[in-house]
Amino acid sequence: MNEAIKRAIMEKIRAYQTIMLFRHIRMDGDCAGATKGMKEMLKATYPEKEILLVDGQHSDFLSFLGEDDGPVPDGKYRDALGIVLDVSERDRISNPQYALCREIIKIDHHIETDPYGNLNWVEEERSSACEMVADLYAAFSSEWVLNAQAATYIYMGMVTDSGRFRFSGVTGDTMRLAGLMLDAGVDTETLYAHLYLQDFEALKFKAYVYEHMEKTENGVAYIFVTQDMQRMFGMNFEAASNVISYLENIKDCLCSLAFIDSGSKEEGIRVRLRSRFMTVNQVAQRHHGGGHACAAGATVYSEAEMAALIREADEATRQYKAGHSDWL
Ligand code: AMP
Repeated sequence: MNEAIKRAIMEKIRAYQTIMLFRHIRMDGDCAGATKGMKEMLKATYPEKEILLVDGQHSDFLSFLGEDDGPVPDGKYRDALGIVLDVSERDRISNPQYALCREIIKIDHHIETDPYGNLNWVEEERSSACEMVADLYAAFSSEWVLNAQAATYIYMGMVTDSGRFRFSGVTGDTMRLAGLMLDAGVDTETLYAHLYLQDFEALKFKAYVYEHMEKTENGVAYIFVTQDMQRMFGMNFEAASNVISYLENIKDCLCSLAFIDSGSKEEGIRVRLRSRFMTVNQVAQRHHGGGHACAAGATVYSEAEMAALIREADEATRQYKAGHSDWL
């Protein structure tokens, strides 16, 4: 599929001596795995090229993947091909210097709203950006070198963004491409230990969340993680944001919302929205956000706006349930 765009991307990669990789703000497993996997694969394939990943973000959850490159002068960007992975809109690219690059390639699996690349390869139906990186590898496997490290990064992104191969975007191709990664030597036991093990305090926080979560009339589960709660459990913002994963498997609650107070008026309250069967990104779009049909993000700036968002999600859930009977 999409052989022409993949060939065009490959030609650009061959032509440039310096290639820089970019990802989105609030790094997650997919954008981290796609950029790190691509970097490792390009380094192994083209040892004479300079492959850089300058981001400046840190994630405790993903620290087992290792740190990125340090800052480089602007001149480096000007000579470089920039490859932006897993970022739908340009203002969500974490390193704003990406714009200095001579040419940009966008590789993404979100709904296309901003074709900011000179080349744009967007496939909304893909379960992860890492799946697209794996697909690129599959197309050029006679030239590209996939070592165990690169395969581990890419596999990790495929696993995390697909809900452990659970979401509806997962296809036979997803599994065949994941199989290619496993063939390259992923140590799955260690990888899953990094993904699943939790700190003692984080489990106490989880218990607190289950004690305090709420539910609307039509089945929206939600929780507001205040600054006080974050302090009480010694959670940083990233760890507190993980709260959404606790609310996803509640019967009848087709939609779940986590509100995480950033502690700053400008940054507001982060909203993470998840749904099954029904879509939820239309609610996110009304509150400075967007994302996938069933996994979206937004920001609200007051408790009144939070209440409004909950009402909108409740109404969307009511409408969905009224028109369908095959949900759980
Ligand atoms: P999150 O809950 O932050 O993991 O976001 C879920 C999905 O929505 C991810 O694919 C994000 O890239 C996307 N997303 C989150 N926040 C926004 C936003 N403000 N605008 C557009 N997409 C977003």
